[in-house]
Amino acid sequence: MAIQAIRLFGDPVLRTPAAPVVDFDKELRKLVQDLTDTMMDAPGAGLAAPQIGVGLRVFTYYVDDQLGHLVNPDLDLSGDIDEEGEEGCLSFPGLSFPTPRSVRAVAKGFNMYGEPVVVEGTDLMARCLQHETDHLDGILFIDRMDPQQRKLAMKAVREAEWSGMQPPTVKFSPHPTGGKAL
Ligand SMILES: [Zn+2]
Repeated sequence: MAIQAIRLFGDPVLRTPAAPVVDFDKELRKLVQDLTDTMMDAPGAGLAAPQIGVGLRVFTYYVDDQLGHLVNPDLDLSGDIDEEGEEGCLSFPGLSFPTPRSVRAVAKGFNMYGEPVVVEGTDLMARCLQHETDHLDGILFIDRMDPQQRKLAMKAVREAEWSGMQPPTVKFSPHPTGGKAL
């Protein structure tokens, strides 16, 4: 088990687009294990590598008893927009807000061995795939809210007890990030 500190809103790594994975090596498998352990411990329905300070395009998910991971995902959205579904984020502990998302998503990518995989989902799985892929682009769920809702969310964030708190900065990451700053 290697549970990592989850970065909170305000940490610049959450706003930094992640680099595509190039090497499907032992380091990547360790990253997937760390993400899985940290997500299950939280517990959460998904966790993206930037949330543990690693700038690579990898996330894990645990939705409807399906545990998995995806590397270098590419997303296709379809179906209606669910305007009202509540969504939370491990980088915003204890908070959830209605966040508009497509009700159907297909994510194409790779597993940690470099084999192509497709993950399809509706409702919560579709929401999770969109939320986690957004993390890899430095996009947070507050960005998807309508302006009124975002205002309410930001007020709740400012009032949250973790607001402004950050775990200690880790100077060296065990994971290669293709030369990108973390
Ligand atoms: Zn999140």
